[in-house]
Amino acid sequence: MELLQIYRQFGISGEVCARGEAAVEALAPRFREIDRIAEANQAKVLLAMQRNRIGANHFAATTGYGYDDDGRERLEKVYAAVFHTEAALVRPQITCGTHALAIALSANLLPGDELLSPVGLPYDTLQEVIGIRPSPCSLAEYGVAYRQADLKADGSFDYGAIRAAINEKTKLITIQRSKGYATRPSFSVAQIGELIAFCKSVKPDVVCMVDNCYGEFVDTVEPSDVGADMVVGSLIKNPGGGLAPIGGYICGTQACVDRCAYRLSAPGLGQEVGANLGILPAFYQGFFLAPTVVAGALKGAIFAACLYEGLGFRCIPNASEPRNDIIQAVELGSEAAMCAFCSGIQGAAPVDSFAAPVPGDMPGYDSKVIMAAGAFVQGSSIELSADGPVRPPYAVYFQGGLTWQHAKLGILLSLQRMIDRGLAAL
Ligand SMILES: *Cc1c(COP(=O)(O)O)cnc(C)c1O
Repeated sequence: MELLQIYRQFGISGEVCARGEAAVEALAPRFREIDRIAEANQAKVLLAMQRNRIGANHFAATTGYGYDDDGRERLEKVYAAVFHTEAALVRPQITCGTHALAIALSANLLPGDELLSPVGLPYDTLQEVIGIRPSPCSLAEYGVAYRQADLKADGSFDYGAIRAAINEKTKLITIQRSKGYATRPSFSVAQIGELIAFCKSVKPDVVCMVDNCYGEFVDTVEPSDVGADMVVGSLIKNPGGGLAPIGGYICGTQACVDRCAYRLSAPGLGQEVGANLGILPAFYQGFFLAPTVVAGALKGAIFAACLYEGLGFRCIPNASEPRNDIIQAVELGSEAAMCAFCSGIQGAAPVDSFAAPVPGDMPGYDSKVIMAAGAFVQGSSIELSADGPVRPPYAVYFQGGLTWQHAKLGILLSLQRMIDRGLAAL
């Protein structure tokens, strides 16, 4: 078989290949379901672009202040149309997801207000933004208090604890859709909708924000369809479609997004400034491709779960559970296994395939982190990548792949490296 011949040149054995083929066959119904979601989302993006009459003139570069940047304004309308929100802020000046979330939080919380996370501890980098881990310029330094309701042991919402945590000071509730570097489940949009409805039943005017990182286009609905006042994410994850080289987005109510724009630029200026510097073609085209890119990444995630679960490793989610983000956690049990897995992902990359990932310190994280990424956009995790904090249970978080075929090759090579180093057996 031609495929086997070419895989052999990557060092992948016939046995590993055969395992892969068996997994693909078993997953055929899931893959069909993923393709249908991509089809609906592709149409949703197309409709948004058509209704906003996107023309070639909207790709023009602006410089300086960026006043009257029609391409930038239309892109924000396209995002607002897809997320069904009143407004959107989509900018290259938002440097990453953490920055987008920090803007959304600091713009909508004032001294004396309280922030609540009803889903346990937020993503690592957010802990410094909030001040859970002390940091200069954190929300805590500015007098914003923080409260948390942990999830129940089975990963479900603790409604009793949430009700008890909401008080007269509670201004904003932050809900993280994806698990991040935790082995809790990621939440479905429907679950998030229930949680928002509950919080608003306790306190109708509370602002509900969803950290939507890694969740975009995994379902045909988004958290903004079920009551979120703001949804926030990174353009070097799902919605950038692999083409956006930088950026973040905040979609939401006009009132919330206005404040975010004033925080990002300056009070009084808001969304009126911010030159696009010629980046708009990548933003538009990446958003156009995002539904199919996300579908490929999802197939890769389910493929990895199917393969690794079959070898006795705990996978979160497992191979048959529904998907709420593109992240696949695999508990590998040791630092050596994390290194082997990551070396396979790195070895399958189009860029920097010759590099060997090693654990190291990272700003914003409190333990060593190992990262495998050979990406066109540095640090992009919609491209094939694997990473994880080197601490028990030694889980790698695998995600991305601009094409399903690349994701598959990377996972096969990861397994091969584990076998070669005696860390897994077929
Ligand atoms: C990636 C991520 C972030 C932060 O995004 P960066 O672009 O890495 O700053 C925040 N929350 C979640 C759930 C994420 O996955």
